Amino acid sequence: MIKKTAQGSEQGSGPELVEEPLLLEVQHKGFSKLSFPAELEQNFKQYYIHAFFVQSRLALLTGFLVFGCFAYLDVYLQMQMQIQSQGQNSALGSYLNLWHYYFPLPILLILGLLTSVKKFKQYQQSFLMAMMLSIGFALILLVCRTSSDANDYYFMGLLILEILCFTSARMQFWQAFYSACILFVFYNIYYAYIYILPGNQLLVLNFFYISGSVLTLFGCYFIEHAIRKEYVNHYLLKYQEVKLNQAVLELEKQAHIDGLTQIPNRRSFDLALKNEWARCKRLGFPITLFMIDIDAFKKYNDFYGHLQGDECLKKIACMLKSHARRVGDIAARYGGEEFGVILPNTKKEEAIVVAKNILADLQAIAIRHEAAPRGDFLTLSIGIATVYPEKTDKNFSVENFIHLADARLYEVKHQGGNGYIYE
Ligand code: GH3
Ligand code: MG
Ligand code: MG
Repeated sequence: MIKKTAQGSEQGSGPELVEEPLLLEVQHKGFSKLSFPAELEQNFKQYYIHAFFVQSRLALLTGFLVFGCFAYLDVYLQMQMQIQSQGQNSALGSYLNLWHYYFPLPILLILGLLTSVKKFKQYQQSFLMAMMLSIGFALILLVCRTSSDANDYYFMGLLILEILCFTSARMQFWQAFYSACILFVFYNIYYAYIYILPGNQLLVLNFFYISGSVLTLFGCYFIEHAIRKEYVNHYLLKYQEVKLNQAVLELEKQAHIDGLTQIPNRRSFDLALKNEWARCKRLGFPITLFMIDIDAFKKYNDFYGHLQGDECLKKIACMLKSHARRVGDIAARYGGEEFGVILPNTKKEEAIVVAKNILADLQAIAIRHEAAPRGDFLTLSIGIATVYPEKTDKNFSVENFIHLADARLYEVKHQGGNGYIYE
């Protein structure tokens, strides 16, 4: 299965590409409860944080500003009222007292900054929940500080808080739902038993809180559902892309590699020879070409069967490949039981050494060929051509070069095979 960091490659540190069957299962079953199987959920969590990190931070920053203004306005107005009724000194005490309720703000600001650190990014949702609850508790407690006329204003702060967290700051649905429930239970107990509000007032507050919560949670649910859907589709698409790339690579490979012997095919040979010819011509280097043919291979096939013939071709290809050692050297299957070896920047003397080594290697491999006209082992014939492309007649082409090596190969054949000819 493909397991790689797809998102990572796109955006730095992102989630891993999860397994395709899991994604297909999720797509098939749906996710109306807004949860994926554990492994996928873990990845989604990372994706979610990654995708909305900047937006969430901006929203929080705006939220801090809004609540900062809220706090400042509150303290300022309260002080004005205290100065009017009790004088300057008592107003200062009240001012300091009131600020206690806003203590979560600087702490939360620091926590907010901490979530920008990579190590703490994963706690972003928990932080959002903690922030929502702390500010919510503070607002609920503030109600008891003031005259009943101002209670509703503090309480409305809870709705601003919900809009901030559930939609702008991208709190996930279940965190949002539980936070709303905790605040609901907390203020109802607090206002019913500890700081007792008149029943009608509590009813009105409940109406606003419940309708505000339901509407924002509604939005929160559908936004998260859409994000989850996009996430599943995005990764399924990524899978298709990876598969497509693999198929393209495979096709490219098949177009250049011989299926049986796994060495370059005729197409690669032609291309390489053309390129190397041009390169050697430009640099004034010699170039050597071996045209190689297995002797009496038809008889080998007839005697041992085609499958063993195939195995034999693979062995020969592998052996030839081991002699194309330098950069630019190439051993290719030219067709049937014929091979071509291109040795750029290789002089005749060096080429002869390579040809001798090939024949020696074949002797060492010792492939039995009981049907061979001479001897009991498989042999090769090699036609060698070495030229300086720069010095050749301008009508001498790559095709002439191949014919030259081919002609020498057939000379070897005429002389009974098992050898090489270079001029
Ligand atoms: P010579 O010494 O003159 O080269 O004789 P030869 O029998 O080697 O040459 P010939 O051209 O008469 O026969 C080539 C044989 O190579 C015939 C064909 O069955 C076999 N051959 C070509 N390609 C393959 C292949 O992919 N697999 C197998 N097993 N045999 C192949
Ligand atoms: Mg042949
Ligand atoms: Mg042959």
